[in-house]
Amino acid sequence: MARYFKTMHDARQEYEINKDTAERILGRNYPWYRPQGSEPVYYAVCARCDNPIRLYGIYTGGVPPHGRHHGVALTGFPFFDRASNDFCAYERNAALNKADRREISEFGRKIRRLAIEEFDRVVLVLSHALGINISETLAGEMLRDWLAAGGYLYKGAHLKNIPWMIAYFSRRQSLFGRRIWKNGDLIDAITAREPNAVFNNQTLSKGDAYYSVTFEFIDHRVRHLPAGQIEETIVMRIFGTGRRGGEAPQIFEQSVVFDESRFASLMNTSLERARRDDGMLAVAARVGGQFV
Ligand SMILES: [Zn+2]
Repeated sequence: MARYFKTMHDARQEYEINKDTAERILGRNYPWYRPQGSEPVYYAVCARCDNPIRLYGIYTGGVPPHGRHHGVALTGFPFFDRASNDFCAYERNAALNKADRREISEFGRKIRRLAIEEFDRVVLVLSHALGINISETLAGEMLRDWLAAGGYLYKGAHLKNIPWMIAYFSRRQSLFGRRIWKNGDLIDAITAREPNAVFNNQTLSKGDAYYSVTFEFIDHRVRHLPAGQIEETIVMRIFGTGRRGGEAPQIFEQSVVFDESRFASLMNTSLERARRDDGMLAVAARVGGQFV
């Protein structure tokens, strides 16, 4: 089920599906409004996968307003991508395999292009989600890892989860020298489990003895909740100092719930009101500019 629509695959702005948006945005015009007998029928495009959806429940009570994937190409909507449609339309809870890839297609190239063009927003959303400051150097390395792994072709990738997917495909990284500013549980865990760790202005800093704190992401899951809500999560794992020559022990883990609306609203900010981070955009251009 979809909860947000766009008017066309190449549109940016998305709307929550309800009677008001259907009437106001889609109007009574082809290809969106297609009455069948006495029944008013609306079609639009899914905001996560760009494929055509039919809107349900906007006039009849009983079911919350939602969209269902049409499942095949539909005249009037020039874009249809089988792989992205089928993944998005799949309505059971799924633990995905990181190695599952789609063929390169217009959809994969679009995810890749968006990641680079919107990279400052990607990093901002991710930094807020984790409560960890992401420097330009770290951001560049994460983007490089994601591109090298073909993260934009991963089966679970769609237009709305780009920030978290870039984290998901990046290698284990150090937290040393990073400011942890909005994640009390993480700070507590590091303080409790790594007695040599020192926080200076919320930043992991050099202390009297050597220590190491690193982080990585695993376990992307999609859960379908009532009323057409979808919850996507990954797990952040934190590792402490290993014994000499040994594996670093895991000291903490935390579920990270994707906040797609935050990313969408940043992308939909009007040009006049948008504040862009030129430094971060330059990083993206350097790492992935050839894909734009
Ligand atoms: Zn979809």
